[in-house]
Amino acid sequence: MTIKVYPKIYKMEIPLPNNPLKGVNSYIILGKERNLIIDTGFNTKACKDAFMENIQEMNIDLSKTDLLITHLHADHCGLAAALNREGIQIYAGKIEARMINEMSGKKYWEKFKDYARMFDLEKDNISFDDHPGYKYCPKEEIEFKLLQEGDKIHIGEYSFEIKDIPGHTPGHIGLYEEKHKLFFGGDHILDKITPNIAFWGFDKDMLSIYLSSLKKVSTYDIEYLFTAHRNSIRDHKRRIEELHHHHEERLKEIMEIIRYDKKTVRDTAAKMHWELRYDSFEDFPNPQKWFASGEAMSHLEHLVFIGKGEKTIEDGILYYKGKI
Ligand SMILES: [Zn+2]
Repeated sequence: MTIKVYPKIYKMEIPLPNNPLKGVNSYIILGKERNLIIDTGFNTKACKDAFMENIQEMNIDLSKTDLLITHLHADHCGLAAALNREGIQIYAGKIEARMINEMSGKKYWEKFKDYARMFDLEKDNISFDDHPGYKYCPKEEIEFKLLQEGDKIHIGEYSFEIKDIPGHTPGHIGLYEEKHKLFFGGDHILDKITPNIAFWGFDKDMLSIYLSSLKKVSTYDIEYLFTAHRNSIRDHKRRIEELHHHHEERLKEIMEIIRYDKKTVRDTAAKMHWELRYDSFEDFPNPQKWFASGEAMSHLEHLVFIGKGEKTIEDGILYYKGKI
């Protein structure tokens, strides 16, 4: 089903069965010559069927339509390869385009074996096969049209400017329409859900990167912030403050966990508070174990980056401890 959210702008809700996110919002912007679709859903039959049903319902001519991917997560780019094969032009930021193509092969995912060891997740019999990112991502390379900060896309009366908003992923982009005060923010800022900030390599302090992208967006004049999950946001500044507060609280919580004894990533994640219906970390399904460990990692690494934590590695397993 599509819902009109603004003149010439429609939201289609693509269901994500058996996923806590429930669904992804894909947006259609109708233009005179060309239309633009933002994000797609997983690379699954259920998502493809829902996507195509909406396209037909809206009478969209796909030969006059481009697709833009906000970021590399499979619930956003899953169907991009299939649509690219049908001749649709796919826009993405430079970093995400390279990574989506890397992720389409198995080699990228091999490093998750090392992560399982480092995070002390081997005891959970966890593997990258459990990761939805691996299961539902495009399985072939895509010929992207690359975007960078400041690029403009004109659709009908709208003029969208590309904004770099890294943090949730390394190369997440958003679209800002200054005149109408609209922002398409992917997963950067969500209502009710806190976007997952994960680990993307030891060279990056992802939490700092994310927090500065939040600050960047808080300076924009926005009336409607169209999110990729759940509801649109009207008061983005208030929501950004809440997200800042959430991460401050998370950091305090983790500082307490690692204050006296060194802890593994798994032990840290297991002691953190999660809004999930499981009693303990042991009961988490494996995809949730990956997400929780990634979230713990981004905060643990941030503490190391700012000098409030130290890490050691013993027998291939990482340990973090607070620095007093
Ligand atoms: Zn995402």
